[in-house]
Amino acid sequence: MKETLKGKSLRFWITVGMILALAPLAISASVGYVLLDRGVIAPVHDVAFRQRHQIVPAQRLELLIWNTLTPVDEYVEDGNPLHRQAYQSFRAQIEAGFAGLLDAVEEDPTTQTVVRRARESWTSADALATRLISSPIDPADPRRIEAMERFHGEIVATSDKLQAAFGQLSGAIQKDHDVAVLAYERSLWIAGIAGGISLLAIICGVFIIGRIIGASVDRLVAGAAIFARGNRDHRIDVQVPPELRRVADEFNHMIGRIRESEEALAALAHLDSLTGLNNRRAFDQAFREAWARFERYGEPCCLLAIDIDRFKRVNDTYGHAAGDEVLRTLGNVISHHKRPSDQVFRIGGEEFAVILPKTDRSAARAIAERLRRAAEAMQVAVDDKSLGVTISIGVSEASDDLDQNRVVENADAALYEAKSNGRNRVVVSRPAGLSDQSAA
Ligand code: GH3
Ligand code: MG
Ligand code: MG
Repeated sequence: MKETLKGKSLRFWITVGMILALAPLAISASVGYVLLDRGVIAPVHDVAFRQRHQIVPAQRLELLIWNTLTPVDEYVEDGNPLHRQAYQSFRAQIEAGFAGLLDAVEEDPTTQTVVRRARESWTSADALATRLISSPIDPADPRRIEAMERFHGEIVATSDKLQAAFGQLSGAIQKDHDVAVLAYERSLWIAGIAGGISLLAIICGVFIIGRIIGASVDRLVAGAAIFARGNRDHRIDVQVPPELRRVADEFNHMIGRIRESEEALAALAHLDSLTGLNNRRAFDQAFREAWARFERYGEPCCLLAIDIDRFKRVNDTYGHAAGDEVLRTLGNVISHHKRPSDQVFRIGGEEFAVILPKTDRSAARAIAERLRRAAEAMQVAVDDKSLGVTISIGVSEASDDLDQNRVVENADAALYEAKSNGRNRVVVSRPAGLSDQSAA
């Protein structure tokens, strides 16, 4: 499972991070919408409805009821039928008002009961008023005052009951208001918490992704710097994210190929193209190493300087190509007759060198002799003829009283002596400058 997750791409993790960061905001937006819709918008609608259809009609109704006192009182005073008409107009409006209000509070049984009671009081008041305005009454009739007082009493009672209904409606509006405020506060809290969680998720995501990518990029940069300093063995280890792992893999692959190319170039730089033997550059390095072993471990070491005798004549007589063939064949012969641990080099035109590790001068002399004889016996086919050459060899040995260059010079000097003494011979250099020689 962990491995599967590790292999996921950077794009995958950024998508997951964004979902984790945005999910709380999306959820809070949905929950907030529901809360606002049900908790705020619905109560506000309710308040507006109550205001328009309940509170305002109730107030208007109460006003109309109080207005009925004037035409009734004045009719009783002057018996003018116009007052009766005015009363009946109020009456019609009041009846319609009660019917409308009862409809409006249909879903609120408590208020509806109170409104019904108010209408009952109004019905009583209306019955008294109807009687008072049906015909003029004698001002001296005591029933007139009593009826008037009862009518006034019923109007007050109706008004009181409407006031009670009004109080209940106001209470319901207050409740709606409280619900709306609570829902609003809750939605604010939810939005705040969701915003906080999102912010935290974003910070964590940026931090985690930044750390992972930062560490991997640092390893890539450090690896490139190590490579630039010349270390070809270092390999960059980046596992996540896969995009950077691919970069590291490509980089490692590239370093491997560069290393192979460099090794191939180095090998080429140490090879002689004509004979396939190691060249002068390789000789310098190999002899330095042999010298270091001699100095550190006291390991004996000898050096052979080989030169073909009168090689110019071969070229002059048989041509340069034939000379090349002689060089190639002689290289093979020397390689064939040396010991496995000996190292052969072509260090110049027709000059060769052999490093003989762990070899003293008498063994070196024997090997040089063997090589000289092998060269002498060598035959190179040129056209339909075959030609032979001889070689001269100078031998020197590493010793404490010499330095590295001196050993090479001694081998050259011994070779020169071999040439001077008639060629086709081996001369072994002596530290004191004396030389042994052997010839065919
Ligand atoms: P000595 O016995 O004194 O060494 O005489 P030598 O003729 O061998 O010496 P010298 O130095 O006079 O001549 C060396 C010749 O080797 C001259 C040059 O043309 C030839 N030579 C050098 N390199 C090559 C090569 O790569 N191919 C061929 N064919 N000849 C070469
Ligand atoms: Mg020469
Ligand atoms: Mg020569």
